Amino acid sequence: MGLTGIQIFKLLPKTNCKECGVPTCLAFAMNLAAGKAELSACPYVSEDAKALLAEASAPPIRPLSIGTGENVVKIGGETVLFRHEKTFVNKPGLAILLSDQMPEAEVAGRLQRFKDLKYERVGLTLRPEMVAVKNDSNDPGKFEALVKRVKAETDAALILMTDHAGAMAAGVKACADRVPLIYAATAGNADAFVPLAQEAKCPLAVRADSLEALCQLTDKLTAAGLKDLVLDSGSRSLRRAFEEQTFIRRAALVQKNRSLGFPTITFPCEMTQDSMKEALIAATFVAKYAGIIVLSDFRGEVLFPLLVERLNIYTDPQRPMMMQQGIYPVGNPTEDSPVLITTNFSLTYFIVSGEIESSRVPSWLLVMDTEGLSVLTAWAAGKFVGDAIGGFIKKSGITEKVKHRRVIIPGAVAAVSGDLEEELGKDWEVKIGPREAAHITAFLKTGN
Ligand code: SF4
Repeated sequence: MGLTGIQIFKLLPKTNCKECGVPTCLAFAMNLAAGKAELSACPYVSEDAKALLAEASAPPIRPLSIGTGENVVKIGGETVLFRHEKTFVNKPGLAILLSDQMPEAEVAGRLQRFKDLKYERVGLTLRPEMVAVKNDSNDPGKFEALVKRVKAETDAALILMTDHAGAMAAGVKACADRVPLIYAATAGNADAFVPLAQEAKCPLAVRADSLEALCQLTDKLTAAGLKDLVLDSGSRSLRRAFEEQTFIRRAALVQKNRSLGFPTITFPCEMTQDSMKEALIAATFVAKYAGIIVLSDFRGEVLFPLLVERLNIYTDPQRPMMMQQGIYPVGNPTEDSPVLITTNFSLTYFIVSGEIESSRVPSWLLVMDTEGLSVLTAWAAGKFVGDAIGGFIKKSGITEKVKHRRVIIPGAVAAVSGDLEEELGKDWEVKIGPREAAHITAFLKTGN
């Protein structure tokens, strides 16, 4: 169980020196208890107190990393049951399954899809990160060869899947520097898998047939000194697996159950043969509460919705998603193309740029920094008003890209046109665009 703020306070130096960034030791203790501060921020905690406080300040779900470099997958570290309470922290890794018994063409196709399926959205690159390599052949040599190939051909974070210690040792040896996830220690093989994970310093997945058995196994492994564990409760039906995901999250956060305080791995690929059902199952686990989701294959129509769902759920609801302020060409605009302006709330940008694209009228879209507020909200807050818009247009550099001096503003803020014209001067014409983004296509097509 975690300590309360008062219990933590009793272990602090009580000098109120402020070096931790808050005025008093009590305030620091309260922040620590609420998970809003790191123990390392106080340089004066005694070693004895540190040992006690480390337990209290440890995240209820252990954060860990799989893979290296830019494609490292961070999972765990969650502190809330519901996104609106605060935010979800580390998005689940999406993995494609490869077997060492698959035909060459199938392996090559899946690897190619892993590399090709990337999408740009809200200024981010959405892509899957993981490849799960499964030893179905029982041949350590074949398994090792496939692991080496995946490592050489991709930047994927790897999941090595076999119950056999010999094959796992060969797989780990082939890619230990990539920090793979070792899947999975069971009651039968844990004694052989523990030294593998310890020597290679790799996270270890743990699989059992019930939550009770899973707790016993994680207790055994943590007692052996392993900390980076990933849980597989063993269920392969949606209903049971979903219940167990929820139970594990609640147990870790609400009951402070350390035996279940680890991220989880789920296998929609083993729950159905139907790819659309598999996508729906995966979508369920994106929301609640998988750390890793293993899919049988990646296809655009399945992967893209999952990536967007993941993006939406794993953004901080307290911070609007924003675009960079600047000039965004839509199509291949020329010096005669129309100029439109909007705010930098990402959703607004994507709706407006999408409508411009649909019109097939190449245009310049000016995106103004309104701290992520949408058009009307920014206007009401005084951030998207005539003089501010005018100042931005003058500094944006758009006059070097077009020879006309005409700007189209959203119809919803038609009231600012007078102030804007005054700010821009008589060379400029301010045109009032449609109130609704849905009408931009028709507006541009008819020559605005
Ligand atoms: Fe207290 Fe430590 Fe913060 Fe100083 S740095 S105020 S001793 S908690």
